[in-house]
Amino acid sequence: MTLSSLIEAVPPPPDSSAGESLVGLGRLALAVRLAALGVPERQLRMRVSQLWSWLYVRGATDFAAMTDVAKELRAELAANFTLARLAIVTEQISVDGTRKWLLRLDDGKEIETVYIPEEDRGTLCVSSQIGCTLTCTFCHTGTQRLVRNLTSGEIVGQILLARDRIGDWPGATPPDPRGLPSAERKITNVVLMGMGEPLYNFDNVRDACAVAADGEGLSISKRRITLSTSGVVPEIPRWGAEAGTMLAISLHAVRDELRDQLVPINKKWPIHQLLDACRAYPGLSNAKRITFEYVMLKGVNDSVADAKALVRLLAKIPAKINLIPFNPWPGAPYECSDWEQIEKFAEVVNRAGYASPVRSPRGRDIMAACGQLKSASIKQRAGARLAAPA
Ligand code: SAH
Ligand code: SF4
Repeated sequence: MTLSSLIEAVPPPPDSSAGESLVGLGRLALAVRLAALGVPERQLRMRVSQLWSWLYVRGATDFAAMTDVAKELRAELAANFTLARLAIVTEQISVDGTRKWLLRLDDGKEIETVYIPEEDRGTLCVSSQIGCTLTCTFCHTGTQRLVRNLTSGEIVGQILLARDRIGDWPGATPPDPRGLPSAERKITNVVLMGMGEPLYNFDNVRDACAVAADGEGLSISKRRITLSTSGVVPEIPRWGAEAGTMLAISLHAVRDELRDQLVPINKKWPIHQLLDACRAYPGLSNAKRITFEYVMLKGVNDSVADAKALVRLLAKIPAKINLIPFNPWPGAPYECSDWEQIEKFAEVVNRAGYASPVRSPRGRDIMAACGQLKSASIKQRAGARLAAPA
């Protein structure tokens, strides 16, 4: 297919006079917009790669900075588009350096993005949907109805926004350097573990991952991008074929009867079907293992017998096990397992050959830990309502 026939196959961009932001768009989407400005087809590839580099290697926020782009085109771009980032409603920095942003989208809806720094690396946890259609009983996002899918631009936009705020562009200095890694790149990993079920927003998440992994742009390799799913079994092989990132599975129980309660999608696709899809995941090997997430719920799924059943269940799958201490939220029907119990459970997992299985909770003080997203915005709003004069 030629570029021009591809462009014809794509619906025209939204009215560009509205000043659409180019942030987060893929190569084809950029080509469509440049063609609409009258850039001749023979120049499109070159112009797209120039823009690409300004957008995703240097993090430009102003068309005027794009010195290798012809002056007239820069003016045309500035007249029709912007490089605007997602709007920050709040930015919070935890005592452990974890950062959480509440971001407002163009239609006024809000999402949360979390950055978790470590000594030599940094992980960005991005959202894929506003809310979630699923209703896992231990997850706060699950108590919120799905509002809508995020566009791929909004997903990539979370990465750009985070890089701005932590000074992760060449030559940039972070506005607030507290707790940032000493490594040259501050965001080394991206996990699709924020709000939403990413496999229910398949196309947009796949396109966003392609932009993030592009070696001439953001260059976060697919090996460093992990998609976490609650178990949308039919989409797992497709994800492997079309995106091929690392995979994490929210397992949380070893028996269907219990998983049906905790992760209700299990009623549709029970554990054996889920594990079959995992075994068939393309590229699965000891170098490319699947991570199994297991939230530790006191008296529910945390017995030593459960731990033994877990290692038996995963015995033939190249796997990592990630035990997540349950992060409480207001009104949650569970408690986190006692630390002693987590240690007993971890010991069984450890003895079976899985290294450092417990994920230390980060950013709990700012409600940024797994499964806590949504709460701050709702609480804040409730707080604001209470504080408002009658
Ligand atoms: N929807 C996807 C990805 C987002 S949730 C999924 O379910 O996999 C990211 C991880 O946080 C999942 O493993 C999820 O089960 C876990 N999680 C949700 N609520 C939690 C909580 N309150 N405490 C700890 N982990 C939680
Ligand atoms: Fe949705 Fe994942 Fe929360 Fe389940 S754990 S409700 S799939 S975000």
